[in-house]
Amino acid sequence: MKRVLVIGSGISGMACAVRCARHGVHVMLVSPDPSERSQSIMAAGGINAVIADCDAGDSVACHIEDTLKGGCYLGGRRAVTGLCENGEEILKMLVGLGTVFSVDKQGQPLRRAFGGQTYKRTYYCGASTGKQIVSALVMEARRFEAEGLIERRLRCCFHSALIHDGVCYGALLYDETANKPEAVLADAVVMATGGQNALFGKTTGSTQCDGYAEGRLFMQGAALKNLEFIQFHPTTIETPQKRMLISEAARGEGGRLFYERDGKRIYFMEEKYGAKGNLMTRDVISREMGAVKEQVYLDISFLGKKLIDERLPEVRDICAKYGSIDVYTQPIPVSPSVHFFMGGFAVHSHHETNIRSLFAVGECASMYHGANRLGGNSLLAAMYSGGVAAEEIAGRPEVGRAPDFGKFISQEYDKMQERQSADSPFPVMYIRDMLAESMRSHMGIVRDEKSLDEGISDVEHLLSVAEHLRYDSSVRHYTNYSLTGILTLARATLQCARSRKESRGAHYRSDAPKTSDEYGFSTIITYDGGSYNVRLDKEHEYES
Ligand SMILES: Cc1cc2nc3c(=O)[nH]c(=O)nc-3n(C[C@H](O)[C@H](O)[C@H](O)COP(=O)(O)OP(=O)(O)OC[C@H]3O[C@@H](n4cnc5c(N)ncnc54)[C@H](O)[C@@H]3O)c2cc1C
Repeated sequence: MKRVLVIGSGISGMACAVRCARHGVHVMLVSPDPSERSQSIMAAGGINAVIADCDAGDSVACHIEDTLKGGCYLGGRRAVTGLCENGEEILKMLVGLGTVFSVDKQGQPLRRAFGGQTYKRTYYCGASTGKQIVSALVMEARRFEAEGLIERRLRCCFHSALIHDGVCYGALLYDETANKPEAVLADAVVMATGGQNALFGKTTGSTQCDGYAEGRLFMQGAALKNLEFIQFHPTTIETPQKRMLISEAARGEGGRLFYERDGKRIYFMEEKYGAKGNLMTRDVISREMGAVKEQVYLDISFLGKKLIDERLPEVRDICAKYGSIDVYTQPIPVSPSVHFFMGGFAVHSHHETNIRSLFAVGECASMYHGANRLGGNSLLAAMYSGGVAAEEIAGRPEVGRAPDFGKFISQEYDKMQERQSADSPFPVMYIRDMLAESMRSHMGIVRDEKSLDEGISDVEHLLSVAEHLRYDSSVRHYTNYSLTGILTLARATLQCARSRKESRGAHYRSDAPKTSDEYGFSTIITYDGGSYNVRLDKEHEYES
């Protein structure tokens, strides 16, 4: 029987697992925590699709154009076309699995406006779209678990891939319950590990998504793409642990951004961009907010209690819980924060990386969003990419006998043991905090060559410190060995940003503020044991 190893159990991993199982492929689904605790459950705003009952004038062609334009034409046209054309089928499939979308009194699905979209096409499930989709996929996965086709492994993390001659034969996992590594052979490995939040520490996302898997596979030969494009969401509020997202739905329902000067409200986005100012793409709003000296506020109070309670209850609750703000009467003080990573594994049209039989789906793969993602498109891409990879895997012959990885496995095991006895004054979390602080200050909404060089030199210093890491009993075992991968990914990210000497989408260089045709291609970065090789994908090797 064909066997697939899916690493990560958010929406993209689950979508892939369920689709593989439908084809009779056996899936081992691995994650440190259950799907119900993946970042995917945080998605509140909704999922985009153009369905038969769309706004007058809307069309799949318009969704494609909005997505490409929002991404500054770096998203692959063929890939984006496939994504948007499949929106309706994905929505129907989710409804079939039991996802309950919000409907009006006539039972018609409700949709809302999101930034950068010409029409309202974001469908939602009250304030818990991500949770509803995850629940539906979990129920479906359970059905296949009962049939023995899906095996869910919790408290289990990716450590490294088993690669020989450019082909992936499986992965070395770390089982945190047994406290030991475990090699798993498979006909295909699918990475579905989400974003790279640990690079920046406090973000709107989950700390489970630390980027280690990308960093480690990069060190093992996987090409990465467009790492410099990191989305800052304009409306977040700070809490001691993380940034809480004030969903774009708040502006989609009519919320207005302003700051105060001399006691007067200045609606700066509307003044500059007109009626749709508050729904400009996230990169544009975040930059405009960065240029404002005063505190920026989001006002939804005038929408009234009924609409807020019906359509924005999570915004109401987050503000009350984390900011003691009564949104019925008070504006919300907001500021931008890291939210989404457009970059990730470079993948071909079927979501296979440059390493044969190693696939990547969901947020960890770079494919559809180009230089900036539109709200609501990520859940769609997570569902779609999981399905695309599954279809490809199901249609392929089995890989055949794997070479002997015994030597590699024992070397990796020895390195883990060394880590546990190494002695250095620096605990892991201290280095991770230093990294996040440096990345926030050197790779923010606005960068320049000097700040990026400073960032690179900080990361190189931290890499040298990490060599002599002290085992840190206060963190999960896996966190102890993940550091070098995370730092290497950070170094690669800074390198990509340094190489793109222009401004485009979420990448803004104050020393190169214009968009240049010369850079109208994706960035590809590879690693060969010490040097970081960056090139523009002029041949469209990874875009189709
Ligand atoms: C607050 C918030 C709100 C959002 N709202 C929306 C929205 O309304 N609409 C929209 O389209 N998008 C939204 N997004 C983005 C969207 O939710 C994510 O991009 C999407 O859910 C990612 O799904 P995924 O399956 O790729 O990854 P995730 O859901 O992040 O899952 C990653 C999985 O990988 C596992 N993992 C990570 N590292 C390892 C490892 N080393 N070994 C094993 N497992 C590992 C994790 O535990 C997890 O199971 C939002 C994001 C945030 C943070």
